[in-house]
Amino acid sequence: MVRQEIDRVGVVGAGTMGSGIAQVAATSGYEVVMRDIEPQFVEHGFDSIEHSLERLASKDALPADPETIRDRIAGTTDLADLGDCDLVVEAALEDMAVKQDVFQGLEDHCASDVMLATNTSTLSITSIAAALEHPERVVGLHFMNPVPIMEGVEVVVGEKTTDAVTKLAHDIADDLGKTTWESDDKPGFVTNRILMPWINEGIRAYDEGVASKEDIDAGMELGTNVPMGPLKLADHIGLDVCLHASETMHEELGDRYKPAYLLKRKVEAGDLGKKTGVGFYEYD
Ligand code: NAD
Repeated sequence: MVRQEIDRVGVVGAGTMGSGIAQVAATSGYEVVMRDIEPQFVEHGFDSIEHSLERLASKDALPADPETIRDRIAGTTDLADLGDCDLVVEAALEDMAVKQDVFQGLEDHCASDVMLATNTSTLSITSIAAALEHPERVVGLHFMNPVPIMEGVEVVVGEKTTDAVTKLAHDIADDLGKTTWESDDKPGFVTNRILMPWINEGIRAYDEGVASKEDIDAGMELGTNVPMGPLKLADHIGLDVCLHASETMHEELGDRYKPAYLLKRKVEAGDLGKKTGVGFYEYD
C-alpha cells in the first residue's frame, strides 16, 4: 500500500522545476525538504522561490504571507534528510543515469510505502524504476514551467505503477491546485511527443527561409490561437532542454523526431534562449 497521509514532501533538485515544485507544495501547507548537490544550488533555489512568492504576494495570489510559506521549506545537500518525507518528487537533471542513481538513494532512505515521483519530461518511468526493489511506487508527475503559474500536470503511469500510486499522484496534484491528465509511459508522453515536432518544424521553417521568426510566431499565434509561437516557446523552455527531449524521442521513435539542424547549432553556440539572454530572440 502507498502512504496516503502526507505532511512532509521531499523535492530532489532545486533548479527551475524543483524550486517551483517546493514552492507550490509549501504554498499548499506542506512541510518541504528541498535537496540539491551543492549549497549554492540550494541557495539559488531559495532565491527563485522568494522572488516568485514576492511577485505572487503583490498580486494577492497567496493564501499566507511569503515568509510563512518560505519557512515551510528546509534546504539540504544530504539525500538522507528526505528519509522522513511522506512522498518525494524528483526534479534533477534530465539524465537517466542521474535519475536512476537518485531513485536508488531514495529507496535506501525512504520507507517502502512512500510514493516516489519523477518530473522527467521524456525519460521512461519504467526504466527509472527498473533497478528498484519497489518499482510499483514510482510514477511520473510532470509539472509544467513555470510551476507556480502553469495549471497542468501530466501523470505518467509506468509498467509497474500501481493504481493506488497513480490515484495518489492525481490527488496530490489536485491538492496543489493543479489539473491533471494521464499518459502511458511512451516517449515524450502526451505533451512533448506533440510539442517537440511542432517546435522543430518551426525552427526548420525559419532555417529554410519560409518566413521571418516574427512571422512564424505570429502565424501560429494568430492563426491557431496558441499563446506562444514555436520559436518564442523554444526560447522560453530552453533550447538545450528542447534538443535533449528531441534527441531522446528521436532515439526511441525514429526520424520524424530528428532535431532541427539549427537547434543543434544554437545549443552548440551556447545560445539557449531566455536563460542565456540569446536564443532565436534577444532578452534583457
Ligand atoms: P535545472 O537544470 O534548472 O535543475 C536541475 C537541478 O538538479 C540543478 O540544480 C542540479 O544541480 C540538480 N541536480 C543534479 N543532480 C542532482 C542530484 N543527484 N540530486 C539533487 N539535485 C541534482 O533543470 P530543470 O529545468 O529544473 O529540470 C529538472 C527536471 O524537470 C528535468 O527532468 C526536466 O526534464 C524536467 N522538466 C523541465 C521543464 C522545463 O521547462 N525546464 C519542464 C518540465 C519538466
